[in-house]
Amino acid sequence: MAKVPRGERLVLTIIGKRNAGKSSLINALTGQDISIVSDTPGTTTDPVAKAYELLPLGPVTIYDTAGIDDVGSLGEERVKRTRKILFRTDIALIVTESNEIDTDLEKLIADIQAMHIPFILVFNKADVKPLPETTAKRCIERNIAYSSVSSVDGKGIRMLKEKLMMLAPLEMSNEQVLVSDLLRPGQTVLLVVPIDLAAPKGRLILPQVQVLREVLDSDAIGIIVKERELEKSLTELSRKPDLVITDSQVVLKVVGDIDPDVKLTTFSTLFARYKGNFETLIEGAKQIDKLKDGDKLLIAESCSHHVQPDDIGRVKIPRWIRQYTGKDLQFDVFSGHDFPDDLESYALVLHCGACMTNRMEVIRRMMECERRGVKITNYGIAISKLHGVLERVIAPFFG
Ligand code: SF4
Repeated sequence: MAKVPRGERLVLTIIGKRNAGKSSLINALTGQDISIVSDTPGTTTDPVAKAYELLPLGPVTIYDTAGIDDVGSLGEERVKRTRKILFRTDIALIVTESNEIDTDLEKLIADIQAMHIPFILVFNKADVKPLPETTAKRCIERNIAYSSVSSVDGKGIRMLKEKLMMLAPLEMSNEQVLVSDLLRPGQTVLLVVPIDLAAPKGRLILPQVQVLREVLDSDAIGIIVKERELEKSLTELSRKPDLVITDSQVVLKVVGDIDPDVKLTTFSTLFARYKGNFETLIEGAKQIDKLKDGDKLLIAESCSHHVQPDDIGRVKIPRWIRQYTGKDLQFDVFSGHDFPDDLESYALVLHCGACMTNRMEVIRRMMECERRGVKITNYGIAISKLHGVLERVIAPFFG
């Protein structure tokens, strides 16, 4: 099987009481006898992630979780871990061997709904207990997606997969564009790329190349200059450019050089839209104006990159935010896939540009912030806000 990046896989979490047949449901869905299936309640202790190719859905990661009714202090810890998995779940399968929605199930449904996680209620014993009409009616009335399946003879499994497809997030199928929707054939785009000490030797960086490629694919005319040659190139052009795209580092100079009626944005703004939910990131940046003394901010990096002495996330952005707000703030850095357990204690998450990860992974982290009631923005949007040019650089997308 071709390796699919983790972030592009649909994340399914199987949840329910102990011994509700969660593991055997995974086996029935995937046709693989991998999860441990046992009649002894509580065999699956911690959330176990496994990657599958689930036809016709495509690549998925399935978390097989501990029973929600797990008992004792160890059980509490396991339930906590299950909850952590739910924060990054695309679709939950709530599994029950019962044919009724009892109080425990009601509570679980309420929890999952409160977290805004799409879910399917899976009644798992169709071979021995056909689903009563009253239960089906109750689900329909409450707009709850449900399936009656049997992990033993496979009954209802195909229908369950079809329901999963309908619930899959749109982001998984959407082809995102970087810049082509802002351009028409023949238009001129001026790209401003500083070549400083931080620039890699002998080449442009990938985001710049990607944008340029899309400009060319749009049959537009791409002109690349360093910020020092910007003024000269403007005087040599017979008309104003249709769009200017600049590196954030020199955005203040470029805003000063470019007439206000010319559309202007930054590479990192293009990538904020490409990699995440643009409106949420812009909304998150407003939180900077509400920061108070003592607030904690989380610098969330998607990879453990080589840290520069004047690192953008760890040094420059904290400095600019302190200068902008005049507040006494604490900045914590967290690298990698997970957020800290105490995410709720942060006043704002500042996410990196996510150059090493994909849109779905970023969207998932944004959803986790939403589920935990924490505002999130990213470096590019925050920098424009701190430099006072946010309105200008986002205007091309809302015009
Ligand atoms: S912006 Fe790219 S290099 Fe920097 S932390 Fe994020 S993923 Fe890593």
